[in-house]
Amino acid sequence: MSIVPLTDFSRLCIHTITTKPWPIEEAAKRYSAAGVRGVTVWRQWLEGRNIGDVRRLLADSGLAVVSLCRGGFFPSADPAARQAAIDDNLRAIDEAAALGAPLLVLVCGADPRQPLETSRQQIAEGIRAVVDHARAAGVKLGIEPLHPMYADTRSAINTLRQANDMCDRLSDPQVGVVVDVYHLWWDPELEAQIQRCGRAGRLLAFHVSDWRTPTEDLLNDRGLMGEGCIPLRQIRGWVEAQGFNGFVEVEIFSNRYWAMDQQEFLEKIKRAYLEHV
Ligand code: ZN
Repeated sequence: MSIVPLTDFSRLCIHTITTKPWPIEEAAKRYSAAGVRGVTVWRQWLEGRNIGDVRRLLADSGLAVVSLCRGGFFPSADPAARQAAIDDNLRAIDEAAALGAPLLVLVCGADPRQPLETSRQQIAEGIRAVVDHARAAGVKLGIEPLHPMYADTRSAINTLRQANDMCDRLSDPQVGVVVDVYHLWWDPELEAQIQRCGRAGRLLAFHVSDWRTPTEDLLNDRGLMGEGCIPLRQIRGWVEAQGFNGFVEVEIFSNRYWAMDQQEFLEKIKRAYLEHV
């Protein structure tokens, strides 16, 4: 199957953290003027704001709220911390509902003081503890597998197979998966596991960026699409072969891009989106 290049910005979504220097008001104005149609809001961008006001601002700017980032971080060797995480996820679900976000992205968490399998058990327990609240709020929960370099503290779910296995274990239609190319591009099982997501109807979101060589910072050196070795168009093809036709979300943490003029960066994102995704 040949993949058709994207020719307009009707499916372009940007994460607020991608243009980190811009507060939500500035991001809404600039994204809207650039023709961007979707936004994923990180929770820090809601601090000190009335969420209803932000919801109206984004709607008035013609921006669909694609998701709220992020919940999760369920595991801990400390039971009190596990309960605090559950409480925080309940709040995040309420924030997503107030914002009109249909999806809360879960960075599931890990604790280096305990085995990964213990963390996975606690992730399952944490999601079970909040899923009925998510259902009542009309918010889906998306498990985002993270690259194994983050398995110590950020996520014990590091492959799409593990995310699919977790969904099967939970067996709840309120829970699905988020495919982020930065975390998953290297996996020889990626296409097969995307097909598994499609069969189960659980593919909820698609995040893009690129993998730079050499990567100079484990967290904040993501590349702009086309700058690295990720076969972006091929992976988009696999996702769309499963019926996914939602937003393509640009999520780039980059010290170098945050340091540049953000309007110029936004123009680069638009060009890269058309040329490389
Ligand atoms: Zn992501």
